[in-house]
Amino acid sequence: MKTDVFIGLGSNLQEPSAQLAGAVAELAALPDTTLIAQSPFYTSSPVGPQDQPDFVNGAVWLSTGLDPHALLDQLQAIEQAHGRERFSHWGPRTLDLDLLIFGNHVLDDDRLSVPHCELPNRDFALQPLLDLKPDLTLPNGTAVAALRAQCPDNRLRRLLPPDYS
Ligand code: AMP
Repeated sequence: MKTDVFIGLGSNLQEPSAQLAGAVAELAALPDTTLIAQSPFYTSSPVGPQDQPDFVNGAVWLSTGLDPHALLDQLQAIEQAHGRERFSHWGPRTLDLDLLIFGNHVLDDDRLSVPHCELPNRDFALQPLLDLKPDLTLPNGTAVAALRAQCPDNRLRRLLPPDYS
């Protein structure tokens, strides 16, 4: 059985749009997984320390037969392959992949919180989700559109397709 999942992508180092485009291709190639759709990319102001470049963000909609922890393993392997180093909490990074929504699953263990606990505070994740599926809801019934309407502003700017690569 396959589950619809939504992954958030972010980068602010080493050609961020190219990092995201590469990650989308790698997500589409995961085992037992199909890419349903890819959102537009946006630039956003950093959360936390401001002495770092703006981020490029986007999201993908996948259908996967992987379980949540196996999918997290795959996301972390892709992050590592993009040379991700953890300089500081909320600091710059070559690639950040977040498991935002995994079907109707609600999980909270030492590795995984799903839906992602910061989702209501991140317009750079909520807006791409809305682009992918305007009527998307969380497992508790909350509409992503309602979260977007009351979310803090990170000065999102939509990138035109030629900027993707
Ligand atoms: P960060 O890279 O700062 O987003 O945090 C990565 C850490 O968050 C890893 O240790 C993950 O195990 C943990 N984590 C918890 N929930 C999630 C989630 N929904 N998606 C991605 N990482 C998560």
